[in-house]
Amino acid sequence: MREKLKALATLQQVDLEIAALRKAADIFPKQLTDLDKELAAARSALEAERARLADLERQKGNLQQSITDEKDKVRKWESRLTEQRSTREYAALAREIDIAKKANQTMAEEVVELGKTLATQRDAVKAKEQEFAAVQDRVGGQVAELKQKVTDADAQVKELEVKRAKASTVVDVGLLRRYDTVRKKRLPVLVPVLAPGTCQGCNMNVPPQLYNTLRSTLGTDICPSCHRIIYASEALEAPAAR
Ligand SMILES: [Zn+2]
Repeated sequence: MREKLKALATLQQVDLEIAALRKAADIFPKQLTDLDKELAAARSALEAERARLADLERQKGNLQQSITDEKDKVRKWESRLTEQRSTREYAALAREIDIAKKANQTMAEEVVELGKTLATQRDAVKAKEQEFAAVQDRVGGQVAELKQKVTDADAQVKELEVKRAKASTVVDVGLLRRYDTVRKKRLPVLVPVLAPGTCQGCNMNVPPQLYNTLRSTLGTDICPSCHRIIYASEALEAPAAR
């Protein structure tokens, strides 16, 4: 009886280790996702600054093109001034030229202002690039560390599963079947009953008759309340009983 119990207790010890490892590894996927999110956020912050810069450059380019176009127009109009026959036509064209020149002046000032904004924006992009590089470095390191942990945990679980397979071969077949059925729902499956007859799995008292039998046979039974496999605590603690 005692050997059967010991074999099952050994198996359960392995199962508890596997469960603890799996539980510890449970958070790894979420941690990886969080790191990915952090990196993505830093990347989109950088991309937003780059987009702003590109937009400003486009604005400046458009403005410079407009200035060039306006200048061409003014040159053309100026060459036509001498062809004007009436003073009224001359005056009208001269006025148009004046307006175009003023507009050009305004646009030239805008280009200067845009140039300043662009310089500031270039600095902002540079700062964000450095920020992103730092996040990439740190997150990259953390991801590598985490992946190593996952690999290690997997290897440990595999090792324990080999150990489990070996341990289960010496467990009584009927007991093992019962154990595996309960194990799908709860762990530990095998629990001691302590005086005055309390199941350590559910803290309920087992019937006195059952407790007495467990103590005298040093065998196993099923807890009527939680259906775990129970044994009298002295069965495993006592040096070689009977
Ligand atoms: Zn119980």
